[in-house]
Amino acid sequence: MKDSRKMPLRYNYCPFCGNKIVFRITEDDIDSARYPAPVYIHHDDDSCGKTSTFYVDSLLRVSYKELEKKPGAIKTLDTIR
Ligand SMILES: [Zn+2]
Repeated sequence: MKDSRKMPLRYNYCPFCGNKIVFRITEDDIDSARYPAPVYIHHDDDSCGKTSTFYVDSLLRVSYKELEKKPGAIKTLDTIR
């Protein structure tokens, strides 16, 4: 069982549709060789379904995001419905 303090829920907005999204991220989801670290976020919604790149800092807080799938991410995280 993972330490829940290291699996924070993140609330943000999908850069494609602008709707609110929620996802859970852990340190295992990113390559921590450099920060901000990219991770792919798949908006798991019937009306969107797009995947974008979110960049997080060492505390797994979102710094910025890009519409395209940028190189360097090691995982795709589905948003929580
Ligand atoms: Zn979306």
